[in-house]
Amino acid sequence: MNETKKNINKVNRLLIKHFGIPERQKPLPYSIDTLIATILSQNTNDNNSYRAYKNLKSHIGQWEEIKFVKRSSIEKLIRIGGLAKQKSAAIKNLITSLIDKNDINLRFINELDNYSAIDQLIKFDGVGVKTASCVLLFALDRNVCPVDTHVHRTINRIGIVNEKTPDKTFNALNKILPDGIAHSFHTNLIRLGREICKPKKPVCSVCPLIKNCQYSDKNFEANTKLSNKSFMLLDNV
Ligand code: SF4
Repeated sequence: MNETKKNINKVNRLLIKHFGIPERQKPLPYSIDTLIATILSQNTNDNNSYRAYKNLKSHIGQWEEIKFVKRSSIEKLIRIGGLAKQKSAAIKNLITSLIDKNDINLRFINELDNYSAIDQLIKFDGVGVKTASCVLLFALDRNVCPVDTHVHRTINRIGIVNEKTPDKTFNALNKILPDGIAHSFHTNLIRLGREICKPKKPVCSVCPLIKNCQYSDKNFEANTKLSNKSFMLLDNV
């Protein structure tokens, strides 16, 4: 195993030690559910994308029915998740294409290798590399690490890759990703990015990767939010 793979494994172990092994949904969701949920998650937070998904799913009996529902009705159902016009068009086009292919459950990607499957999925309007790779990881349990804004930022700061865009980071990272770590690595990097390695001010003083990270602009200021919370807790003793 080369040095970069050893380093990724080490970072993965440190993240697991700090955050734990992320739970997986069981049984794994169907590819079509994951694809629609991921389209709905674009440019919004987890809470609103989940509500948009639940709203759509509870009003649509079977995904096939979307072909016969007006796009504007889908837009209303998913409005809470934002970008409803674009997302409703993408979902309606996707379902219509899959019905035409007689493959609503995306069985065709099961036979393809990771890169071929992504190439096929991104042919659908509104499906990018991140969305396609989420289907491979979360529905098919492939060793593929999707790269969103948090994974892109953290993995570049740590110094495992040196790329300017999430899609370039995806290609560089997945060429060297060790076997069997994609789910924990992806999920814990997102958590690291949300809670510690924030875009403007990373809280390096509490980061489990402080010794491994090559970021030249580390921030060692105290985590004031954490400190204030601690004081509040002490006040209540
Ligand atoms: S040490 Fe700082 S910059 Fe590096 S990963 Fe941790 S929080 Fe991010």
